[in-house]
Amino acid sequence: ALPVLAIVGRPNVGKSTLVNRILGRREAVVEDKPGVTRDRVSYPAEWSGTRFTLVDTGGWEIDVAGIDARVAEQAEVAIALADAVVFVVDATVGSTDTDEQVVRLLRRSGKPVVLCANKVDGPAAEADAAALWGLGLGEPHPVSALHGRGTGDLLDAILDAL
Ligand code: GDP
Ligand code: MG
Repeated sequence: ALPVLAIVGRPNVGKSTLVNRILGRREAVVEDKPGVTRDRVSYPAEWSGTRFTLVDTGGWEIDVAGIDARVAEQAEVAIALADAVVFVVDATVGSTDTDEQVVRLLRRSGKPVVLCANKVDGPAAEADAAALWGLGLGEPHPVSALHGRGTGDLLDAILDAL
């Protein structure tokens, strides 16, 4: 079986946009607002001759009281099934309590993690990405999933982790 790469992170950080960027086509559903109910969706993917299965942890119903629990629950299942994980954070927002919950799950899993600092659309946001060193997951890879900036370097790091 192909190695499985799970994309995890809070709603609206750009996971599905990143999935589409990696696939080179629009297959994952991108939403302006969090809250679309979708299960995990798997896609066959390839980079530099390495094939892998890409899992978009699609969504959860928005529930203000329970959203942290739902994010953590979704992430936990996806992490357990994955060989490696891309943890996506919105660099323009910075890390939140929910992000820190997911970091704890990632640590406990022992799985290789690549940290994607997304929404770094230009050089001005590089400092936002650097602030994510504070998560303790190693190097934050600055990426604009929307425009493609940095995604080649991210994919190279992903192949190293797989
Ligand atoms: P998901 O909920 O994590 O899957 O996030 P989506 O991929 O659905 O994206 C949520 C919103 O963020 C959409 O409006 C995207 O267009 C936007 N978005 C995603 N990636 C980027 C990015 O790199 N830069 C900017 N500016 N917006 C982005
Ligand atoms: Mg999504």
